[in-house]
Amino acid sequence: MATAGRITPIAAMKPTTEPTRATQPTQVPLIFELSSEGRRGTDLAARTAGSKSGAEILGGELCRTDLAGFPELSEPQVLRHFLRLSQANFAQALQFYPLGSCTMKYNPVVNDEMAALEGFASIHPFTPAHLAQGALELMARLEAALAEITGMDAISLHPAAGAQGELTGLLVMRAYHRKRGEHRHQVIIPDTAHGTNPASCTLAGFQVLVARSNSRGFLDAAEVRRLAGPDVAAMMVTNPNTLGLFEPEICEIAHILHEQGALLYIDGANMNALMGVAKPGHMGADVVQLNLHKTFSTPHGGGGPGAGPIGVKQVLEPFLPSPRLKHSERGWAFEEARPDSIGRLRSFHGNFGMLVRAYAYILALGGDGLAEASHTAIVAANYLRKRLEPCFPSASPQPSMHECVLEHDLESRTGVSTLEIAKRLLDFGIHPPTIYFPLVVKGALMIEPTETESKEVLDHFISAMERIHDEALNDPQTVKNAPHTLRLSRVDEAEAARRPILRWQPKPG
Ligand SMILES: *Cc1c(COP(=O)(O)O)cnc(C)c1O
Repeated sequence: MATAGRITPIAAMKPTTEPTRATQPTQVPLIFELSSEGRRGTDLAARTAGSKSGAEILGGELCRTDLAGFPELSEPQVLRHFLRLSQANFAQALQFYPLGSCTMKYNPVVNDEMAALEGFASIHPFTPAHLAQGALELMARLEAALAEITGMDAISLHPAAGAQGELTGLLVMRAYHRKRGEHRHQVIIPDTAHGTNPASCTLAGFQVLVARSNSRGFLDAAEVRRLAGPDVAAMMVTNPNTLGLFEPEICEIAHILHEQGALLYIDGANMNALMGVAKPGHMGADVVQLNLHKTFSTPHGGGGPGAGPIGVKQVLEPFLPSPRLKHSERGWAFEEARPDSIGRLRSFHGNFGMLVRAYAYILALGGDGLAEASHTAIVAANYLRKRLEPCFPSASPQPSMHECVLEHDLESRTGVSTLEIAKRLLDFGIHPPTIYFPLVVKGALMIEPTETESKEVLDHFISAMERIHDEALNDPQTVKNAPHTLRLSRVDEAEAARRPILRWQPKPG
């Protein structure tokens, strides 16, 4: 946008509906192809005159001599290579990333600054408790904050992801029933559920009973009543559900389950419409899991490890993973001896760096700020839903919560598929939304703008979607062959998932 001698201020830049021009070179050489024999970035031996060689410092047996084809480059070459590669990715820090159900909100830099504090960043998981009081207190305070936000009695920060939180919750519920002498082996899951729900059930040894949602996309108390019986251990419900709608019968459903001796698990991966506003604990949940890497702004996907704490009601507390934080006159410590605990699901005590970030986020926003974030996320989703209605009608007539699910009839009218629409968005500098999910909506586009995007960004997205709709009708090939501006266009996604080639091998000879 800069013209010679004059730079357009950012505020004056109008969002454009023109696709971004191809700015990436079509071919970036592999780092091996940049190699030049004998070139060095750092040379341990040369650092001070007369100092030892790398092999002498490390011990010869630790130095490889046979690393055929290992690239030899200067430091700036390495820096440029990896920086260039990093720019080839779509990233929340660079682009709008409306990936439904994933809450790709802005990750505040202050979170990273807090996690990088020497006392947090350098601590070892085996540090004795009396030398780690600050870290343990941070964990205890985060547990208390999450208990307040969810309306639950006890929190475990142990699980490393949402799916591991689900498994933890299911094992806790199984242990609870067994302790009572009951061997309930079924779990009810709605047909709109996130795929991890039935997978976690199977992993925990439960049989899945599918609850059909009604014609408006909601759970039906009558359907739950039909399924709930003496073999049902629990029901797993995502609320707001995967259509982005709040389940209006949730309290009645909790009541039906409890009457039958079963428990209610609420999948709280997407708390972005609820935090500071409504609490799963008040809806009758016995277990809830949270995804700190969604709702609580810790990095997500390739950006960092996850954290999937679970919250439970008091009766389930004895079964939570060990160890648990406990306070005594000697301060904070981990309690290991807990006879009813399901034990550990992973090493150590949770992804501590993520816990610091989430705590920083909660403190920075405060109770009112969290509620405002939820409200803004809801307004943003409904703004998109309403504005896009003429081209991409909503899958459900109700106002949405933090995300909306849209449909279209372009496939039958012009042969342009949802996947192709998603690919075309890449040409406008926008990450595709979640597609073909939930499964109950044909050709679904699931869009979650989050609260951290400006109205200008939302308007840019709307313009891009309108233009793609217009192209599909008048110039379908442009959409069908998209993306046109990226280094890689279409990859074989099935092959990439089934047979990934993760390591470069030198050519023989
Ligand atoms: C993301 C998500 C999960 C799984 O969380 P991971 O951290 O990816 O394992 C589970 N349920 C719902 C509703 C989700 O959106």
